[in-house]
Amino acid sequence: MARATAPGGYDFHTHSVHSDGTTRPAELAAEAAALGLEGFALTDHDTVSGWDEAREASRAVGLDFLPGIEITTKHEWESRHLLGYGIDPHSGELLAALARVRDSRLERAREMVRRVAADYAITWEDVVQDGDARTVGRPHIADALVAAGYFADRSTAFEQVLHPGSPYYIGTYAIDTLDAIELVRAAGGVPVLAHPAAFRQRAAVQAAELAELAAAGLWGVELAHPENRLDWMPELELAVGDLGLETTGASDYHGAGKPNRLGEQRTSPEVVARLRELVVTPR
Ligand code: AMP
Ligand code: ZN
Ligand code: FE
Ligand code: FE
Repeated sequence: MARATAPGGYDFHTHSVHSDGTTRPAELAAEAAALGLEGFALTDHDTVSGWDEAREASRAVGLDFLPGIEITTKHEWESRHLLGYGIDPHSGELLAALARVRDSRLERAREMVRRVAADYAITWEDVVQDGDARTVGRPHIADALVAAGYFADRSTAFEQVLHPGSPYYIGTYAIDTLDAIELVRAAGGVPVLAHPAAFRQRAAVQAAELAELAAAGLWGVELAHPENRLDWMPELELAVGDLGLETTGASDYHGAGKPNRLGEQRTSPEVVARLRELVVTPR
């Protein structure tokens, strides 16, 4: 608890309305400043569209902003989320890969809504509006179910309808994790593996896999994340130490969409300074 209220540090993984968060990038900056954070990274799913607003708002409140992204990837059929920091937002190859992920997300959401709508009175228009540029995900279907009065919040809608074991669930296209690491590096960015011990996973990411990702160019691992299972951490910490990988911390804040509190886990300024030396994108 002390950690959540102490000033300083960086929240290195947050979402805004550009994907499935409920907070505008500028509001995120204001909330981060009010908490006394030194800075934060905006890491919306598969998009960089929130960066400009977040950067400008951060500048206005004296906050150090780090542009980031959370890429939907898979390694040998296991879902892996890859954070990329400081990438060149004009890198054609990366942008094309991200566009493919977002297109697939849209198709998959349409099909999931078709299935869900057989049993719950929601429509596609309740989920995605005209001109909607957000990266679409299951949380937006959850929001439609909540708005229609079926469930109290996103979490309940996930438990009841949207979880991977449900008959309504459909997977989405994901970039191979090794390819995504290379894409991030080629775009001048720094790749970090998100929530490697998340309780929704079958198991923590194993040492052999981490070694493979490290050989491909992985820079760091998000060891401090509210959804990492503490009983899986000792082994993971050993592997990260052996491989000489950096460690980051973050809340994975989704505004009102998840119980995660902004700044509840953080990255140290020393780690941020080392990362800064590697990236191409200016503040
Ligand atoms: P998707 O990318 O469409 O597969 O949806 C995954 C997103 O849903 C992630 O950003 C998670 O943070 C969020 N999510 C997964 N499970 C839950 C849950 N039980 N409650 C709220 N959000 C969730
Ligand atoms: Zn999310
Ligand atoms: Fe994630
Ligand atoms: Fe996330």
